[in-house]
Amino acid sequence: MANVNLKHVTKKFEDKVVAVADFNLDIEDKEFIVFVGPSGCGKTTTLRMVAGLEEVTEGEIFIDGRLVNHMQPKDRDIAMVFQNYALYPHMTVFENMAYSLKLKKIPKNEIKASVYEAAKLLEIEHLLHRKPKALSGGQRQRVALGRAIVRKPKVFLMDEPLSNLDAKLRAQMRTKISKLHQQLQTTFIYVTHDQTEAMTMGTRIVVMKDGYIQQMDSPQRLYEKPNNLFVAGFIGSPQMNFREVMVEKFGEEIYLKFGKSSIKLPYEKAKKLEELNYLGREVIMGIRPEAIFDQEIYLDSLADCVVEAEVEVVEMLGSEILLNVKIEGTDFIAKVDPQKQVKVGEIIKLALDPGKIHIFDKETEKTIT
Ligand code: ATP
Repeated sequence: MANVNLKHVTKKFEDKVVAVADFNLDIEDKEFIVFVGPSGCGKTTTLRMVAGLEEVTEGEIFIDGRLVNHMQPKDRDIAMVFQNYALYPHMTVFENMAYSLKLKKIPKNEIKASVYEAAKLLEIEHLLHRKPKALSGGQRQRVALGRAIVRKPKVFLMDEPLSNLDAKLRAQMRTKISKLHQQLQTTFIYVTHDQTEAMTMGTRIVVMKDGYIQQMDSPQRLYEKPNNLFVAGFIGSPQMNFREVMVEKFGEEIYLKFGKSSIKLPYEKAKKLEELNYLGREVIMGIRPEAIFDQEIYLDSLADCVVEAEVEVVEMLGSEILLNVKIEGTDFIAKVDPQKQVKVGEIIKLALDPGKIHIFDKETEKTIT
């Protein structure tokens, strides 16, 4: 078992900079947890506190039920993989991987077995005799992973381990690390600023901003039910489109009005806005690019939600087209069918799926519905 529990953990640097504020998280055994957020949000500091490389200012950290606040990193039964690999240049791959086991005075034949087992898992058996300088970036990163694996830690901590790799290799290593997690059946805590990495790897994602947790959820829930404007904008690529709109009631129906355009809301969303006294007030509307349609069938069935858009850029991605358009003076991106011929400068009609619209409070930026 390797649960990790953070209770009211705060980190202040020089008693001023609050890098992490009242962080509470219970990580279950075998979970793949990802900390994600923009630069400076406190994700590395949190990981370093779990590793024991940074002191906790307030709060408690437990690994496997044991309070570790004052425990040395080497006694915590964790292994950390860094962005810069941190391999010993004068040692071969085998020696790099064997090093921590040697220090523990493990018998030679056991060390050899462990290193070969990890090398096989990572497909680097043929590189064991080489020195790090004779390896590619991707191979070095595998060695760094191998060095962590041989120690059979209770928890793997990874800080942006793929950020020095090119895009293609990064995608391959993402899959490799996800597979490793399944094979090793161990708790992983992974730090990244890249939301794609977080979404594809994490079983649970912790989105952070300015030292605070914004939301902790499965990738799907983060995508479909973001708690606030920040999470909505951070998760998803291309990102969610936003626009300030007015909530207005005509007859029995409630509309979001902006410029000459209006979107009729479905009953549940309309009811919520009315109950919470948003009629006659401005809110922020959010809609993902794939919830905007240009096909006739949607323009007919969603006739109360159709807007005019001026096409500014057409990006052909093969399986889809990204249309950069202006709607009532605001930039929107729509992901549409590649069959359709659209020209720059053209005025087209687009339907905004009202069931997929997110509505945020303008002041608090929290999700209303
Ligand atoms: P990045 O993605 O850029 O690595 P991060 O989310 O990992 O960012 P942290 O490195 O945890 O962020 O830093 C959080 C905050 O703490 C930042 O404001 C940073 O400047 C500050 N900070 C980090 N380390 C120190 C330090 N040793 N002394 C003072 N302030 C620090």
